[in-house]
Formats: sequence, structure tokens, C-alpha cells
Amino acid sequence: MSVTFTTRGALQKSVLRQANERLILNAVRNNPTISRSDLSRITGLSPSSISFIVNRLVRRGVLTEEKLEKYSQVGRRPTALHLATDSMLAIALEIKAGGTRLALADLSGRFLRQKLIPWNSNPQVLAQRAHAAIRSMLDQAGSSRVLGVGVGLPGSIERFGGRVIAAENLNWFNVDFGTPLRGRLQLPFYFENNARLSALAEKWFAEPGSKPLQDFIFVATAGGLGTGVFTGGHLLEGATAVGGECGHIILHPDGLQCTCGNRGCWEQYASDKALCRLYAGYAGLPDATRCDAPEILDLARQGDEAATRALGEVADALALGFANLLMVFNPEAIIVGDFAADAWDLIEARIWAVLKGRAPRYTLAPVRIVPTTHAPDSALLGGASVVFSHFFTRFDNGGDPVRPGEVLLMQGAR
Ligand SMILES: [Zn+2]
Repeated sequence: MSVTFTTRGALQKSVLRQANERLILNAVRNNPTISRSDLSRITGLSPSSISFIVNRLVRRGVLTEEKLEKYSQVGRRPTALHLATDSMLAIALEIKAGGTRLALADLSGRFLRQKLIPWNSNPQVLAQRAHAAIRSMLDQAGSSRVLGVGVGLPGSIERFGGRVIAAENLNWFNVDFGTPLRGRLQLPFYFENNARLSALAEKWFAEPGSKPLQDFIFVATAGGLGTGVFTGGHLLEGATAVGGECGHIILHPDGLQCTCGNRGCWEQYASDKALCRLYAGYAGLPDATRCDAPEILDLARQGDEAATRALGEVADALALGFANLLMVFNPEAIIVGDFAADAWDLIEARIWAVLKGRAPRYTLAPVRIVPTTHAPDSALLGGASVVFSHFFTRFDNGGDPVRPGEVLLMQGAR
């Protein structure tokens, strides 16, 4: 019995130590120039506990201290604590038919290395290619600093196992992507939908000091249309963790055939693919797959009639979808990504004109609609965010997986 008790006691102590360390790291992350006394006030830990833990983190190179120059009061000159941004790293993988990307990111969201992985429509082959690239990146980075791998793809995927439930635009259904990707690597892997990762990146890599977003929607418009929805500060999951996927809400019941099997989904009218289809039609081109959104935007900027007309129709369709989102989620912000972000100066006025005619004023009043500042790296940054968010929040929670973006509060912990 005593052995069990000792083991349990030691375990609890290490869990508590980890919890307090992460509590401090979280406070420093959220307050870029925090002092030791501020830390004590914010965390509820005693000054001696703060001193002990901070000294340990400084010795490990995770925190750095900076003497503040301007200080008018009498007494010891205070020091500001900072996270050493390269002390912890994350690997992010964004799977896209157009260009699968791998990146090594630091805590500030800076990419230290990047690699393009040649596309293969066979998920096993692509997973093996990505696995080799991850191993090579780990060798170059020094694997001890890498906390994990965040993987995004356009579709629904099991968050920890990496089984693709459905990725319509890749034509992947019920395939095990996680096992060949992991191989024998011992790192944690987290899998998530690309648009949801992009939403997480908006929350995790927000401007320091800015008001944290609680209720917002990220609208990804590359290779289809996907959304990530935050409500009350949490990523919306639903009963089986595939909630908040608004690309397949039905805009026209008898509309265009969608890759999901339904008809008239929003993404058929408001995505980059819709833009290409409409432009090809108006320009009299035989094959929409040869067009791409950046080219059409360039043409629209030059006043090309077919491109302008196609972009206008896509803007109308985007706005109709936004009107639905406003009614359901009452967001404070809708953040648009990909081609819609690039085209924002061309489509913003038209989108607001439609919204003013379609959405009640009380849903329009609180909402900002803005292009992301992360384009074209939203999903990759999201891959890094999911790794960091698990590291900073994964402790003493009874073993339940922490939801991405969840920031744990442990006031009064000792
Ligand atoms: Zn659909």
C-alpha cells in the first residue's frame, strides 16, 4: 500500500508541478511584458513559488528576463518576462491537392523551415511522403524542442487517430491517414479540418493586447468552402466533432450537384471553384479546371467583364451564406480567407449591400467582416496552434482531451 501511495503522491506532485509551470507559461504568453509580482497576482501562486518556478524555466531557456529601463518609482528595477519563442516548436502539415505544405513554427508563429510535398491522390503514398519529410525536419530541428505535429485537411477527420471520415474534394473517404503518417514517431499528432485550424490560428496568434475573439467564424475558400466556428470562446464541435461545417448548408434545394452528394450547397456558389466555373462560362472557355482564382482576380482588377461578373456573383453567394451564419451564430466577426481575402477590396461593398437587404439590422450591428491577416498561411498556422494549445492547456483535466483553443484557468493553484 505504501508503495502505491508513494507512487501516487509522486505522480500528483509532478502533475501539479507541470500544471503550475503551464499556468505561468500561459500567463506570460498572454501578457508579453509581465513581471514576477504580476504573475503572482494573476496566478494566485505565492511569490516564493513564482520565483522557484520562473528560475527553473529561465535555466531551461524557456523564459527570458529583461530589465525594464523606464521606471520612475523608487525600489528595485522590475524585470519583464518573455517566452523564448524558439524554445518550443511545432510542425504543421497542410494537406491540399494544390500543394501540400509542411512547416516548422516557433511560438510566435514564425516559420523556421518550410517544405512542399508533391501531391499524390493515394492517401497512403502521400502519408508516407509526409512522414519522411517530418522525420527529416525533426532531424534538422532537434526533436527535443518539437512538441508535436498538427495536421489539417479539407474534410472531416478523427482528431487523434487521423482516420479521414470524408474529404470530398480529395475523394478520400474512411481512410486511415494517421497510422502511415505517424509511423514509429513518438510525438503527439493532432488532426483537424483546415478551416477549423484557420479559425484556431486567429485566436491563438491574435495581436498581443487585442481583445480575445469569443464568437467568430473563419470562412476558408480554397478548394471548396469550409468554416470553423467559435462560440463562447470554444471551437464548435457538435455530437461527433464534425459540427460547424457550413460549406454544405443548402443554399438552393434543386441547385448544382455537390461533391458531398447533396445539391445546392453553399460551396458550389461561393468558393474558388465556383469562381472558376462561372468565369469559364462567361468567358466561353471549355474547361473550368484550367482557370485559377488568382488569375481571375487579376483580370477583374483590369476590368475584364467575364471576371468581374463571375466575382460579383460569387460575392452575392458569399453574402447569402453570411446572412445565414449571422442568424445562427450571432458572431462578433466573420474572417474570410484565401481568394476571398485577396479579393476583399473588390467584393466588400457588394457583400455588405446584399447583407443589408437580407439580414436583420440587429445581427449586422455587432459583426465585423474582415480578411484574415494570415493568408495564405492560415491553415499551417492553425496546425502549429493546435500543437501549442494542447501543450499549454493539457494538464490535470482528468484525462479528457482538451479542446483546441481552450485556455485553462487555475486561479489559486499552489
Ligand atoms: Zn455539399
